[in-house]
Amino acid sequence: MTNRENLRQLLLQLDERGYKAYHDIKGSYQFPDFTLIIDRVQGDPFATPSQVRVQLPQSVAGFPPHLYQIPSREIALRDYLTRSFSRAARHISSRRGTGSSGLIAIVPVGQSVLDRTSAFVTDTIVEVRFVVGLPAQGRRIAGRQAAQMLCDDIPRLVEQSLKYQSLDAAAIEHHVETVEDADWLRQELAERGLVAFIPDGAILPRRSGVNDQPLSSDAVPFQSPTTLRVEFTCPNRGLIAGMGIPAGVTLIVGGGYHGKSTLLRAIELGVYNHIPNDGRELVVTHPAAVKIRAEDGRSVAGVDISPFINHLPQERSTRQFSTTNASGSTSQAANIIEALEADAKLLLVDEDTAATNFMIRDRRMQQLIAKDKEPITPFIDKVRQLYTDCGVSTILVMGGSGDYFDVADTVIAMENFQPQDVTEKAKAIAQTNKTERASEGGEQFGQITPRVPLPESIDPSRGQRSVKVKVRDVDEVVFGTEEIDLSAVEQIVEKGQLRAVSQAIVYAKREYINGQRPLPEILDCVMSSIEAQGLDVLTTLPEGDLVLFRRFELAAALNRLRTLKVR
Ligand code: ADP
Ligand code: MG
Repeated sequence: MTNRENLRQLLLQLDERGYKAYHDIKGSYQFPDFTLIIDRVQGDPFATPSQVRVQLPQSVAGFPPHLYQIPSREIALRDYLTRSFSRAARHISSRRGTGSSGLIAIVPVGQSVLDRTSAFVTDTIVEVRFVVGLPAQGRRIAGRQAAQMLCDDIPRLVEQSLKYQSLDAAAIEHHVETVEDADWLRQELAERGLVAFIPDGAILPRRSGVNDQPLSSDAVPFQSPTTLRVEFTCPNRGLIAGMGIPAGVTLIVGGGYHGKSTLLRAIELGVYNHIPNDGRELVVTHPAAVKIRAEDGRSVAGVDISPFINHLPQERSTRQFSTTNASGSTSQAANIIEALEADAKLLLVDEDTAATNFMIRDRRMQQLIAKDKEPITPFIDKVRQLYTDCGVSTILVMGGSGDYFDVADTVIAMENFQPQDVTEKAKAIAQTNKTERASEGGEQFGQITPRVPLPESIDPSRGQRSVKVKVRDVDEVVFGTEEIDLSAVEQIVEKGQLRAVSQAIVYAKREYINGQRPLPEILDCVMSSIEAQGLDVLTTLPEGDLVLFRRFELAAALNRLRTLKVR
């Protein structure tokens, strides 16, 4: 194998040549402490930066096995290394010419701890994947700069951020222990009959609508009401107490601006783990929780929304409902049925983003507009059936309608950012002030019939290229000639999840979508092959910017592909 000095020589020889000549550096180089692998070389200084990897033998990296030998800890350690590499890279990386010249960067991360292809740890090796902008002056190779960058800066980076002895051992320990505790808590929920847990002392509010870090000075720490208080003994942290939300139908009520949506948002993101000091690091939610909202304008492909919507004008079928432009209520109905099809067990709904006519239909309206003139069966008449017939719980933020008291098992009032258990009070009010509305939900929730996606309706090609997928921002995927809008899919937290989701659609089409297999089975197949072989199964080259998603987000993306057809 060639070594670092060979690479240096090569880069110096390339100095001032046309940028394309950089292609010659593809390959592996033995450095004193590690191997540098250049997997993909950019075509010009303005193209996507080049993809590289470093591999350190564990004998050099020196991570003690207890930090990675169980899956929770392994993911946490890999997350920690991604963050430490990212910090160090930000210091070392500098502009060195045109385009991305001089850039050294790893996948961007947020407050969540997720399984990413940016870093791997095994008994034998630590591998980190990142991108470099190969330096150019104009469109000529800046060979001396490149030699400095690859042969001197990268070894410094590795030294500072990937060797156990240079890192803060206590911080690493705390990182992996916190994640292990969160995973443990999440998995304990079912046994206690809970769907979510928010520990005392948690900091739920964020710094701003665009900054996901915890609100620092004025945040009121979470404190459970005594009646909903539960305790756990975590593997690392020991005893912890907080509010347990039982399975069933839970209502979060309270005045405007008292913290209802903030609590629900924390619950939504409790399907993921968070870094220590996030404030939500031990907030955990049932892993199959799906945020539901209205999303007018979305397309819908052959969804049986008849549990909620019937007798549309012009006799449009609601057993296989398709539209290119859903209304607020039909989009919310489709979102629920699609979530159930993908096997959701907990629905999360916020009045702020729900369609009012989907949520309620009060007595006066029932009298004015007869049932046979109203296609919508409101959620209030279905939410209990969802639990009793399908075992699906709901947590609902609803400050505006007390009609829901009749169907709730638990009612939590947020008052000055603190939860109160007002279940008894709400039940008493429901007893004395009857709504006298007629229930419109029928006997049963209704059938969920899985759809079969047709492979010819999913086409990632564009022009000459058989696969052209790209992620624009955190909420849009370009898929072949189509754009998939995921701005309403609120449990996608990193751009890398979208990269992985879009690759997963391509993979699913290639491997599993055959015009016979129902969607839930396709989701099973994709998720279990990722579980067995890692996210690398989705791509031909080892990419560094894929982040794990859930089956629900994969389904959400596919469901929003406007060309999708089903049987
Ligand atoms: P609601 O949904 O009840 O109208 P929000 O959850 O939107 O209220 O919260 C209103 C504001 O209060 C937001 O700016 C939010 O960041 C802030 N907030 C929420 N919870 C807390 C808290 N525990 N401490 C301090 N501020 C909070
Ligand atoms: Mg709100």
